[in-house]
Amino acid sequence: MKERDYNEFAESELEKLILIQDKFKVEYKVDSFENWFYDDDLDILRLYNNDEDEIFFKYIPIGTFSITKETWMWSWFNNYLNEKNKAKTLKIKKFGIENDYKKLYEGTFTSDKFDGWEFLAISFKLLNGIGAYNIQMENLNYYLLLTEIISNNNNPEVKMLKQKKIECESHGLRRPAYVCQHLNLEIPVGFEESFETYYGMELDDEDNFQAWCSDCEKIRIKYDGWNEESEKFADIKLVCENCYFEIKKLNSI
Ligand SMILES: [Zn+2]
Ligand SMILES: [Zn+2]
Repeated sequence: MKERDYNEFAESELEKLILIQDKFKVEYKVDSFENWFYDDDLDILRLYNNDEDEIFFKYIPIGTFSITKETWMWSWFNNYLNEKNKAKTLKIKKFGIENDYKKLYEGTFTSDKFDGWEFLAISFKLLNGIGAYNIQMENLNYYLLLTEIISNNNNPEVKMLKQKKIECESHGLRRPAYVCQHLNLEIPVGFEESFETYYGMELDDEDNFQAWCSDCEKIRIKYDGWNEESEKFADIKLVCENCYFEIKKLNSI
């Protein structure tokens, strides 16, 4: 009897989520982003194509589905998950106990990937979200409830996220570095940097790899340093540190 109750409940929540999710995807063009990156200290999911084309969401980790073991694990049960806000999923467990829905209060059990979407739908109801996202890794599906969109400009958490590590298409997770819009990997345009650097060096918290081309240097000198005008000309972009040193090698004349 309870089993049927649960199935009916889960299916009806899933139907609701599907409708919301369709609108959500259109509104934020979620499917247009090829890459994802999540920071489990800040509970932020970044979807992006490049630095101009990106979007950030706060999330609550709901749980994981292991493709190899075919098991579901709620994030409150999962010691490997870092996110502090995973404790919020205990509300789902509590709801499960109250209603005697076993799947909602057992920490881990044999499952399939469809369960995950039902769990997301139930989380959506209990924890309030704006959408959901399923990160598909090699052996694991990671189910996130998205709770809020963050405008990327000047948000302190996004700044922190960008100061930490970035996911480079060629090099994977690396420290961020900054170069002017003219620096490239084809034609040498000169290489000036804010301090002498070498590959793999330690950086103080407030330091960043920063470089610009010879033209930018002329403008910078003309304006007696970095100001609105010279920064506009440089239009600094974010790259990974490995890219930075590849750029340095090619552009140092
Ligand atoms: Zn430049
Ligand atoms: Zn790179």
